[in-house]
Amino acid sequence: MRVLITGAAGFLGSHLCDRFLREGHTVVGMDNLITGNTRNIAHLAGNDHFTFIKYNVSNHIFVDGNLDAVLHFASPASPIDYLKFPIQTLKVGSLGTHNALGLALAKNAKFLLASTSEIYGDPLEHPQRESYFGNVNTIGPRGCYDEAKRFSEALTMAYHRQHNLATYIVRIFNTYGPRMRLDDGRVVPNFIGQALRGQPLTVYGDGSQTRSFQYCDDLIEGVYRLLHSDFHEPVNIGTQEEMSMVEFARRVNEITGNSAGIIFKEDLRIKDDPQTRRPDTTRAQQVLGWEPQVSLKDGLPRTIDYFRNVVNAT
Ligand code: UDP
Repeated sequence: MRVLITGAAGFLGSHLCDRFLREGHTVVGMDNLITGNTRNIAHLAGNDHFTFIKYNVSNHIFVDGNLDAVLHFASPASPIDYLKFPIQTLKVGSLGTHNALGLALAKNAKFLLASTSEIYGDPLEHPQRESYFGNVNTIGPRGCYDEAKRFSEALTMAYHRQHNLATYIVRIFNTYGPRMRLDDGRVVPNFIGQALRGQPLTVYGDGSQTRSFQYCDDLIEGVYRLLHSDFHEPVNIGTQEEMSMVEFARRVNEITGNSAGIIFKEDLRIKDDPQTRRPDTTRAQQVLGWEPQVSLKDGLPRTIDYFRNVVNAT
C-alpha cells in the first residue's frame, strides 16, 4: 500500500509511520509541526519508502500518484496545546478532515479518522460504549477539540454514506509511550518529568478523577487491524486499567524512587475535566480480535527510560 499519514511527526503519527514501513508499505507523512517535531521521524531520513512533506492539511492537500489509504492523525491533542491553538484545532478537525476525506475520495483510498474518547466529554455513562452520545460542553475549554472531533466523525460518516467511501473511526483513549513531548502538559509526561527531577507531582483538583492508560504499541495495533477490517462504525481502543490521578502519581513515584511526594493544584483544565474515563472495548475484541497486551507495569518503565534521556539532554 501507499498511505498518507497526516500528523506524521506527532507522537502517534510517527509510531504509525514506523508500523506501516515495517509492514513493507510506502508512507507519505505530512505535518505542519505546530505540535509535532521532526525528531520523531528523524530515524526515517534516507528511507526510500518514506517521504515527509511539511504542510498544513487545513489547506487543500496535493499528493502526486496513487494512495491506498489516508490516515488522518493531524491535530493538537493535549489540553494545553488545544488551549493554545483553539482555532487551528477547530480548523484541522473540520477543514483538515474535509480535505483529507476529499483526497481519499479522489484517490479511491480508504480513510481512517483518529477520533478520541473526548467525544464522550465528561461522561455520564461508565465505562463508555461506542453507543454513548457523550456529554460535551461546546463552549468550555475542551470544546474546540471535542467538537472538532465530533464534527470529524459526522463528516466521515457522511462520506461513507453519500460516497460509499471505505471509512474507519478509531476512538483513542489516553495513550502514552516514547515520543510524547515532555512539555505537552499531559499527565504522563508531567508526572514522569517531575519525578525524574525529584520534584513533587502536580495532581490537579482532588485527584479522584480517573483515566485508563494504554501503551502506544497497543493503540497502533488496533488502528492497523481496523484499517484492514470491513467495519465502518467507531471503535474504542484503550485499556481497562483505570485509576485515579492520585493513585497514578503514587505509581510513578514508586517506580522512579521519587520521594518528593505529590502536591494538589488548581488548573484551568479542571473545568470540564472528565471525572471518569474507561472504555468498553467489547467491540474491538469482537470485530478486530484486539486486546491490549502491554500493562502499565511494563509500559511505564519503558516510557520512563525514554523521558530519562530527554530530561538528561535538557
Ligand atoms: N493532570 C494532573 N496533573 C498534571 C496533568 C494532568 O493531575 O500535571 C490530570 C488532569 O487534570 C486530568 C488527567 O490528569 O484529570 C489526565 O490529563 P491529561 O492532560 O493527560 O489528558 P486528558 O485525559 O484530560 O485529555
